[in-house]
Amino acid sequence: MLSIRMGRGEYIPPNTYPREVHVEVTSECNLNCEFCYRRSWDETPRDMDLELYSEIIDQLESIGTEFVWLSGWGEPTYHKNFPELLEIASGRFRLGILTNGVLLGQYAEDIVSHKVEKVVVSVDSLDPEKYGHIRVGSELESLFESIKELKEEKKRQKRKYPSIWFIKVLMKSNLEDLPEEVKRASEIGAVGLILSNLIPTQEHLSDQVLYGRNPDPKTRKVLHIARGKAILSRIKLVEPEFEYRTDRFCPFVGRDQLAINRSGDVSPCLFALHNYVAWIDGRRKKINQIKFGNVMKRPLVDIWWDKKYAEFRAHVELLQFPSCNDCPYEEFCDMASSNELDCWGNSPSCAACPYYRRIVLCPRTELMERLLSH
Ligand code: SF4
Ligand code: SF4
Ligand code: SF4
Repeated sequence: MLSIRMGRGEYIPPNTYPREVHVEVTSECNLNCEFCYRRSWDETPRDMDLELYSEIIDQLESIGTEFVWLSGWGEPTYHKNFPELLEIASGRFRLGILTNGVLLGQYAEDIVSHKVEKVVVSVDSLDPEKYGHIRVGSELESLFESIKELKEEKKRQKRKYPSIWFIKVLMKSNLEDLPEEVKRASEIGAVGLILSNLIPTQEHLSDQVLYGRNPDPKTRKVLHIARGKAILSRIKLVEPEFEYRTDRFCPFVGRDQLAINRSGDVSPCLFALHNYVAWIDGRRKKINQIKFGNVMKRPLVDIWWDKKYAEFRAHVELLQFPSCNDCPYEEFCDMASSNELDCWGNSPSCAACPYYRRIVLCPRTELMERLLSH
């Protein structure tokens, strides 16, 4: 039995397995969004090979994974064999897609017939001009058309699923539109709207964040109005935090999620799936990929139970990280310039992660279902 040294005691990790897995089927994308992580990396975007994908799907099935998201740092529907990807996974797991929505109409028949359960569409503004500025390469009208085709296909095939959720990255430039958007999102057919916050990947975007040590009180006011509209419009709203609170919770580790990138590297989360640069709390940070193995070299179950990965999960769950976000030394601390090491000796470190503080959110099936059940 694996035992992990923790302070003066021993910790026996619970008998878990990856229940919910994000598979990055491609790092290519048909858009070039203003704040995309991919703008600050030096990898060459590529599709995941079908052989690798099939291997991952076989392994996930054998370990009992329940939900698979086609997601990651690219546009899953842009994979050149997208219908085949659905076919390979269909009926073996519950399926979800995180998408910019542009190609939903083109693949509506495949998505519905392969029983995809949830489609989460990035819609950061319902103002055509703002949307076009943020989601560079897409137009709001064609996105609406695409969503409409998906809804019509559901009717044609007499299926209740997929449920359509919107996800909006809140910024200063799109905050005030929120209450009106809540109502419109419901009219367009979304059952829920997940709100998240921006992780700036370029310095000038730091001015756009709404969270931090002293968040603007206007954000609270706008959210309050949006909540009222959500109740009236019968749409579910998932809200992030805007201040750094004492409690922390990792939505990935805490819910037995992990992410596999298009090369097969296994990471504990979407935040550290690749190397990139971000401006967190106004400070430039080099985010190094956190990986514990590659599924082509080692079975996923062995990677999951690798001592280093199990220790990392235990540290995340038991909050064994300092907190750079509200540390008075952050401005002067060399360690705060990356996630490589922190002052408690953790390497890699989650000490400045905005997901850990619920500032940035990702779709979580159990939460989405709980919301829809009442
Ligand atoms: S849709 Fe996603 S992956 Fe594509 S450019 Fe936008 S943020 Fe990046
Ligand atoms: S590594 Fe430690 S000292 Fe440095 S900013 Fe983070 S919490 Fe503060
Ligand atoms: S706390 Fe953040 S960096 Fe650490 S595993 Fe969770 S999402 Fe990843």
